[in-house]
Amino acid sequence: MNHEENIYVTKPYLPPLEEFIPHLEKVWHSGQLTNSGPFHKQFEEALADYLGVPHVSLFANATIALVTALQALRITGEVITTPYSFVATAHSLLWNGIKPVFVDIDPATLNLDPARIEAAITPQTTAILPVHCYGHPCDIDAIEKIADMYNLRVIYDAAHAFGVKCHCGSVLNHGDLSILSFHATKVFNTFEGGAIICRDLKSKERIDYLKNFGFASETSVVATGINGKMSEFNAALGLLQLKHIDAALDRRRLIDQAYRNFFADIPGIRCVSGRDELKANYAYFPILVEDGFPMRRDALHDLFRQNGIHVRRYFYPLISEFSMYRGLPSATPSLLPEAHYASSRILCLPIYPDLNEAQLSRIFQVIRQAAICLT
Ligand SMILES: *Cc1c(COP(=O)(O)O)cnc(C)c1O
Repeated sequence: MNHEENIYVTKPYLPPLEEFIPHLEKVWHSGQLTNSGPFHKQFEEALADYLGVPHVSLFANATIALVTALQALRITGEVITTPYSFVATAHSLLWNGIKPVFVDIDPATLNLDPARIEAAITPQTTAILPVHCYGHPCDIDAIEKIADMYNLRVIYDAAHAFGVKCHCGSVLNHGDLSILSFHATKVFNTFEGGAIICRDLKSKERIDYLKNFGFASETSVVATGINGKMSEFNAALGLLQLKHIDAALDRRRLIDQAYRNFFADIPGIRCVSGRDELKANYAYFPILVEDGFPMRRDALHDLFRQNGIHVRRYFYPLISEFSMYRGLPSATPSLLPEAHYASSRILCLPIYPDLNEAQLSRIFQVIRQAAICLT
């Protein structure tokens, strides 16, 4: 163990505190702390504008937004999804009494593989729930084609995909709905928070009712809604974060580039890349520790930890390995070879705007040390 400062895989990005104080004073003096106050309205509009999407409905977090999105579209029966994600993706299905059907991933992007979706469709299938993993866009055209052919809805878990653009604009404009997370660990944070992106005002209206107990007016409740509202505190912070996000993404891009330059000379390490990104967000820096590297993934993970560097195995274990999922027929490991491969090889390295040169050098040093180890 050394006595250098610990490095974590991410560090919450915050604006200068003095910029937030005037916002806080406004919240204090207005007396309106939540329930669609002025900051909530401003943030929804500013966010739609920044992201280039028609409508945004803010939420307390992405998990409740996912649960609500499924309700908004009245999804039932079976939904095709990826085992290679954060557990909240599949949990949102179980919370709605929907059966998750896991389909394997594309070994290049680690996103749901469209070529394997059709074989998993049954008469009970009503929707597809893919994830833009690491902010790398899914094969949205192929997914849309299948959805159109079988009349399925598409809800994207876009928790990683803040600000990502592909050939036809924001990735968030694809599918019926997309869900963002503004959790502290994400590229863009409001401490806790999330949003549903939707295409038309009618959908936004239904989503807005659902996140507010189902109230359509003071005296009328039109659906079994929940409390998913974002508070004025979080919305005020979000509004301020928008001013700084481009600078933060620029810093991330430079770190991503430094990693890629470094790994160009390291055999056996594959940097996971997206396809077709016109604007990436560099939310994560995932590598696959493959057979050409002298150390296995878990040994490299432990070596990092011994050096005070908290790399993470996103996503290990797979969702399909957790007790509430592993009994499903689609969770059978032999049906998910690519997901199992990635899960046993993946390591996400630190990436965040304040990661400095000295810290990056310490990370490179650990890899160099592992690369020459003879095991
Ligand atoms: C973080 C995350 C979520 C959950 O987001 P919260 O805002 O923490 O509820 C859902 N899906 C994916 C893929 C995530 O990474």
